[in-house]
Amino acid sequence: MPLPCPKWCFISVEQLDYKRKEMSRKRGVLLKKKILVANRGEIAVRIIRAIQELGHTAVGIYETPDTAARHIRIADEAIWIGAGPRCDYLDIDKVIKAAKNHNVDAIHPGYGFLAENPDFAQACADNDIIFIGPTAEVISRLGNKVIAREIMAEAGIPMVPGTDNLPEGDAGLQEALAFGAKYKYPIMLKATCGGGGRGIRLVESDEQLKEEYSIARSEAKAAFNDDRVYIEKVVVQPKHVEVQIIADQHGSTVHLGTRDCSIQRRNQKLVEIAPSLIEDKKLVDEICDTAVKAAQAANYTNAGTVEFLVDSDWNYYFMEINTRVQVEHTVTEMVTGIDIVRTQIKLALGKKLLFSQDDVQIRGFAIEVRINAEDPKNDFMPEGGKMVSVYRSPGGYGVRLDGFVYQGFTIPEVYDSLLVKMTVHGYTWHETVDRMRRCLKNFAISGPKTTIPFYLQIVDEPEFQSGNFDTSYIEKHPELFDYSDDHSEVNKLAHLIAEIHHKKQNTYAI
Ligand code: ADP
Ligand code: ADP
Ligand code: MG
Repeated sequence: MPLPCPKWCFISVEQLDYKRKEMSRKRGVLLKKKILVANRGEIAVRIIRAIQELGHTAVGIYETPDTAARHIRIADEAIWIGAGPRCDYLDIDKVIKAAKNHNVDAIHPGYGFLAENPDFAQACADNDIIFIGPTAEVISRLGNKVIAREIMAEAGIPMVPGTDNLPEGDAGLQEALAFGAKYKYPIMLKATCGGGGRGIRLVESDEQLKEEYSIARSEAKAAFNDDRVYIEKVVVQPKHVEVQIIADQHGSTVHLGTRDCSIQRRNQKLVEIAPSLIEDKKLVDEICDTAVKAAQAANYTNAGTVEFLVDSDWNYYFMEINTRVQVEHTVTEMVTGIDIVRTQIKLALGKKLLFSQDDVQIRGFAIEVRINAEDPKNDFMPEGGKMVSVYRSPGGYGVRLDGFVYQGFTIPEVYDSLLVKMTVHGYTWHETVDRMRRCLKNFAISGPKTTIPFYLQIVDEPEFQSGNFDTSYIEKHPELFDYSDDHSEVNKLAHLIAEIHHKKQNTYAI
């Protein structure tokens, strides 16, 4: 299907195609491989940029609701894979068929969608397409939290007490009750194949366990097509600390230091920091070395993340390995200078890692905020369906934006609400916080409500500034929700401009 031209775009489809080709020629580079990006949104844009920097050809795919999305406008080739929503992006056969029809050499899955689906990695391998990520076998073993725990237990990696998969029916409930009695509540019921912060339940009593056990199973079945659940002892008010890992196919595994992702809502990350703010350097080194050991125990290749929980006595426990690039990889890139996506592509093509552990230096601090089209005051209700009438992003030293929306873009209602990630880098922690505050104030998005004013509250909150917070942070600070949506003069002005424009006409040029 040809790429329809949205009404706000002044360039015709033919001109756009011509421009794409002209740009490829101008880059003057040998287009070596064709790489398809099986994703959308900001991560598709991020990956396409890396592919083009390497001189390869970037192929984007899109469903109908994404017709006007930026990733297909910057890709060298764009393939429409179906009306969607979501089902076509997730359709392994369709994605593989599109890749084969376009003679694609490799596929980058991004995060979410097919990224952690071992069947997809296997389908790529079966069709002689390089999957940019670990092998299907590794994804399959680590995607199962119980098997991952078994591998880690064997390698002597510390972790919280937990069960195997609970048996079905009453036997499972009885085992869960026995675990509660032995280890004391609270405990956590977790979907064995869960992810994205979903499928996790905190249980505080026998009564609650009896009520929620079968609900947890059926919810796991609905969300992950697998009703298996298991139990972990809860680490009370932990810090979420994770380690970025990179491993080539020639036996070399290095870590790129830590990130703190403790600022979460419903087990989903909102603000991410690199490196973690733990002051004990010895402890940080130990956690990083443990992560390398964990990756090696799992025969890990390509980029991945080993997640840990750290309790108030500075004990740390393995949680899981994410077998893909993470949303928050940007903070690590800012403090190490290493382009993780570029590295992923090169390693998948069989190259050796060009740096050793000693070459990796952490410089300064980075903070990322996920700017979502959501209304935090209304339980983070998504604001999809609205047009971004004004979009003015900040610039300056140490500022990075990874997004896909632009002025005039209507946010599809059917996908997640992440609009743009803003990452800032600074030499000290306080400089980094100050830079983030300035950038949030300078960011004007009009149309949908966003999480920007909420983040402005966080950067001014003393506990955040002190760097000493854990996963209970958002819960502990209800005052963060007490703000005005017109968070700055810039945004007030943006609203005003939007209103004037709206009266004049309803469309905007990119
Ligand atoms: P990150 O640490 O990269 O933020 P998340 O766990 O938040 O990791 O997941 C990133 C994206 O992938 C989110 O959009 C999330 O909804 C999606 N995701 C993660 N795991 C799954 C899964 N098992 N099934 C579907 N989507 C998932
Ligand atoms: P997902 O695959 O959905 O990312 P994780 O196992 O990584 O699931 O857990 C997500 C979040 O849930 C963690 O960052 C943490 O805040 C919380 N969590 C998970 N397991 C525990 C635990 N045993 N004790 C305390 N918090 C936990
Ligand atoms: Mg996790």
